[in-house]
Amino acid sequence: MATVKFEGWATAHRHPSGVYGGLACSPKEATGFSCDRSQNRCSNPQAVLRVTEIFFSIQGESSYAGLPCAFVRLTGCNLRCVWCDTAYAFEGGDEMSIDDVARRVATFGVKLVEVTGGEPLLQDDCVPLMERLLRDGYRVLLETSGSRSLARVPTDVVKIVDVKCPGSGMLEQNRADVLSQLAPHDEVKFVIADERDYRFAVERARTIAPRNAVLFSPVHGGLNPAMLAEWMLRDQAPARLQVQLHKYLWGADARGV
Ligand code: SF4
Repeated sequence: MATVKFEGWATAHRHPSGVYGGLACSPKEATGFSCDRSQNRCSNPQAVLRVTEIFFSIQGESSYAGLPCAFVRLTGCNLRCVWCDTAYAFEGGDEMSIDDVARRVATFGVKLVEVTGGEPLLQDDCVPLMERLLRDGYRVLLETSGSRSLARVPTDVVKIVDVKCPGSGMLEQNRADVLSQLAPHDEVKFVIADERDYRFAVERARTIAPRNAVLFSPVHGGLNPAMLAEWMLRDQAPARLQVQLHKYLWGADARGV
């Protein structure tokens, strides 16, 4: 099986026929896959993703918190939030085809799956992965940093989008157009390190809710959740307080949970 890396594509694509035709991986008759370079789309189930881990756990965040959920953590991130707890996903990982990922997710026997990172949308093949999981009947959640366009993300995917607060050090990375790309079922998350972050978050939350659910999450080990709760009650903040449930269950440093 040959491997080819197209100029301008983020990841390598493999085609079992080995027919590449010079311009792209079409024609469909030759490869059996409807790949469209202009749209950055490839239906090849053997498209390659770089994956840090796939695991089964209790969903720790969002309105889906508490539910058994499969997680696919893709490798790589374009940001460096100062409180990041997944720096191990910045590099490394293993190459897996979409088929490989779907097969592994199916072994967990639940129909809720989250695609996360790192920043999963850095990999072009994240989109065909989510399309495949939707076709397989999953409720698909996507955790994304708010620094990447959501234009290519299928509407049925539940997008959980960060707005970076000043304390993250990544304030300038918030994309202005992302909040206008949300569907009603999507959620917006603020990770809050201190009172300055809280003031930033509550001001923006008033422009987002109730159109979209807003989540306020204290930095684990950095801001006391009870303090954040008091601020939210004082101001009648239009947001849901969430703690990272998995960290209370299994500890702050546990991986694959
Ligand atoms: S966007 Fe997420 S993975 Fe990337 S640095 Fe920030 S917290 Fe870490």
